Amino acid sequence: MRSLVDKSLRRDQLYINGQWCDAQRGGVYPVINPADGTEVGKVANAGVDDARRAIDAATAALAEWQQRSAKERSNVLHAWFSLVMENREDLALLLTLEQGKPLQEAKAEITYGASYIEWFAEEAKRIYGDVIAPPSADKRLLTLKQPVGVVAAITPWNFPNAMLARKMAPALAAGCTVVAKPAGATPLSALALAVLAERAGVPPGVINIVTSTDAAAIGKEFTTHPQVRKITFTGSTAVGKELSQQAARGVKKVTMELGGNAPFIVFSDADLDAAVAGAIASKFRNAGQTCVCANRFYVQAEIYDQFAQKLQQAISQLRIGNGVEPDVDIGPLINQAAVEKVEQLVADAVARGARVVIGGARTKAHSAFYLPTLLIEVPSDAALCEEEIFGPVAALIKFDTEQEAIALANASEYGLAGYFYTQNPSRIWRVAEQLECGMVAINDGVLSNEMAPFGGIKQSGMGREGSRYGLDDYLNIKYLCQGSLE
Ligand code: NAP
Repeated sequence: MRSLVDKSLRRDQLYINGQWCDAQRGGVYPVINPADGTEVGKVANAGVDDARRAIDAATAALAEWQQRSAKERSNVLHAWFSLVMENREDLALLLTLEQGKPLQEAKAEITYGASYIEWFAEEAKRIYGDVIAPPSADKRLLTLKQPVGVVAAITPWNFPNAMLARKMAPALAAGCTVVAKPAGATPLSALALAVLAERAGVPPGVINIVTSTDAAAIGKEFTTHPQVRKITFTGSTAVGKELSQQAARGVKKVTMELGGNAPFIVFSDADLDAAVAGAIASKFRNAGQTCVCANRFYVQAEIYDQFAQKLQQAISQLRIGNGVEPDVDIGPLINQAAVEKVEQLVADAVARGARVVIGGARTKAHSAFYLPTLLIEVPSDAALCEEEIFGPVAALIKFDTEQEAIALANASEYGLAGYFYTQNPSRIWRVAEQLECGMVAINDGVLSNEMAPFGGIKQSGMGREGSRYGLDDYLNIKYLCQGSLE
């Protein structure tokens, strides 16, 4: 296996106020490679005092950063984007080592994360206010958009680079400063992003990264510190609710990108080969560990067997292995707890009558690798219809009518992504409008990109990332009313 070309991307300290520093109490913790359980390295284990130092640094850096012109901030972001792309191979390798996804996917994630930096470098120059028609001739009304201030970001392990880039880029574009806590399991990608931000000219204090195993304490500090004006979180719905409650006490703005439970509907008039390709793309990326992964496949009775057969054939082609090896499609799950959860969900479905067509087990005892799996005849009361599987398991449920499919799809407290395949244009509109999701993919298995608004409804969260709406969450609208004009 090759090593990093630029070894300085590999950091093990906190990044606060432009300095690489140890945790004040000196603690460190190991980063584990999920593919083989080996230690990739150790990083600083921040405590609340370090989080506070980071918030102080972000507060001190705010005035100078927000006073820079939009064009100056844009130039820094463009430089950061270029550096991320130039270092894509190294960043991808670090990502695979700490997270497990295949190198090809890791490279795609770096490109995806960088696309948000580039997008918001451009959007930074398009923060417009309004001139509003006044109610009387002696007044003039207008609005300004101003940065909300210090932003605290907390991100998950499944996209260690992109989830952070998707938050830091719009924050910086708007003129905010950031304190970030990446997932405990995947700190290295976040630290490497900070190295490149520093090289791109992001001033000290504008980005601060605290790595820690004490997520609850750091989260509490972020949500309750008076200088933090906004919490942006991507992760599970349970933690999102907790952080929202904490943030509500200080009436802080929140963006919550939470869990999903995506329905994937295949109607009898669908192009079945396209639907199978979409199912593979949506279900098996990152070994099924994405928030927009298809979680429940609803397949119309007439084509159920045919679709199942084609999907089985496609699943049997997937290669499982250590992500650093060539031509791997499915890496390990993030840890043993994740594998155990998948095992329990499959066992529950089978106990309720589902049949395992392919897969249905780990590669061997205690392995973090779970075989790509197809379950058929899954009853809709199986636990995996309610919970995120977060593993490479496709669960097929039969339906008869369009209304039934929509009702089943909407019978979830989540509302992040939804997918459906049909060639009927009227049905496209009927179904798209009725699905209770923030994002709907029609005859497509991959929907996220920097130009489109990413986000959920119901218990999948609030706020949108990316797109022309993605800056709104980092800006306050200030209304100016000038009177006594002659
Ligand atoms: P998680 O357990 O909620 O963790 C997410 C982040 O929150 C991590 O940094 C974690 O730190 C931290 N955290 C955990 N408990 C906390 C607490 N009590 N207070 C403050 N912070 C806390 O989620 P995950 O398992 O990492 O990620 C998977 C989840 O993220 C899934 O539900 C997935 O659907 C969701 N997700 C959503 C989106 C979206 O855009 N909607 C995108 C990706 C993932 P530690 O890692 O150190 O515990």
